[in-house]
Amino acid sequence: MNIAIFGGTFDPIHAGHMKAARAAQRRFKLDRILFIPTGNPPHKIHDHLTDFAQRYAMVTLACANIPTFIPCTIEAPTVDGSPRYSIDTVRAVRRKLRQHDRLFFLVGADAFLDLPHWREFRRLLDSVEFIVVSRPGFDPDAIRQVAPPDLLPARRLAQRAETIRLRHGAIHLLPGVEAPIASRDIRQAVRTRKPVTGLVPKLVEEYILKEGLFGPSAMGKRLHQ
Ligand code: ATP
Ligand code: MG
Repeated sequence: MNIAIFGGTFDPIHAGHMKAARAAQRRFKLDRILFIPTGNPPHKIHDHLTDFAQRYAMVTLACANIPTFIPCTIEAPTVDGSPRYSIDTVRAVRRKLRQHDRLFFLVGADAFLDLPHWREFRRLLDSVEFIVVSRPGFDPDAIRQVAPPDLLPARRLAQRAETIRLRHGAIHLLPGVEAPIASRDIRQAVRTRKPVTGLVPKLVEEYILKEGLFGPSAMGKRLHQ
């Protein structure tokens, strides 16, 4: 089986995430994509963050009609609030796979450029195949610079333009997605009472309105006060 991990804050999950996942699924024949909302993201600790249960609910609604898109709670918040790291998630998922399963890690170009700041990033690069989806404003050439030269194979194989082979892993570039949608813009739109129809899956839009998310009186926020 080909399996991909797709992590994010998903605050909220939106049409750009869905388009990226569908494109990756087609290109790499992914049998399953695990959508993993992160509980305590190391890099977003000081930002606004909707309650995990609500972000997970939205992921579940977005995946409801797609049997191969699986919501996964492996990064649910820890009791002590300590951050979760992708390297641990990869190891935990890998342990559950069979020998011939192929594990991918799906990210947008912006997240991949940030990779050198991730915990054990060299080990992470060497332990999974990355699929890097293009995102407006992010330079594909910069992506090629992320892999440290010593992770490249000693004998340089003929590198396919869209795949950078590493000693153990690989970085696959997936151009052409370029969906101009970000959660931040959706939060902003909802806050200013603009419609988000088409920017998030229908059920997610209904859930945002029902729960009053992203407004000043959002239930998740009140519960945390
Ligand atoms: P925010 O604006 O809050 O940062 P976001 O839209 O970037 O939200 P995240 O939850 O941060 O969404 O992203 C999760 C993963 O999905 C990351 O790897 C990110 O790069 C990727 N991603 C998000 N939006 C897109 C998009 N429009 N196209 C491709 N990849 C995307
Ligand atoms: Mg982001």
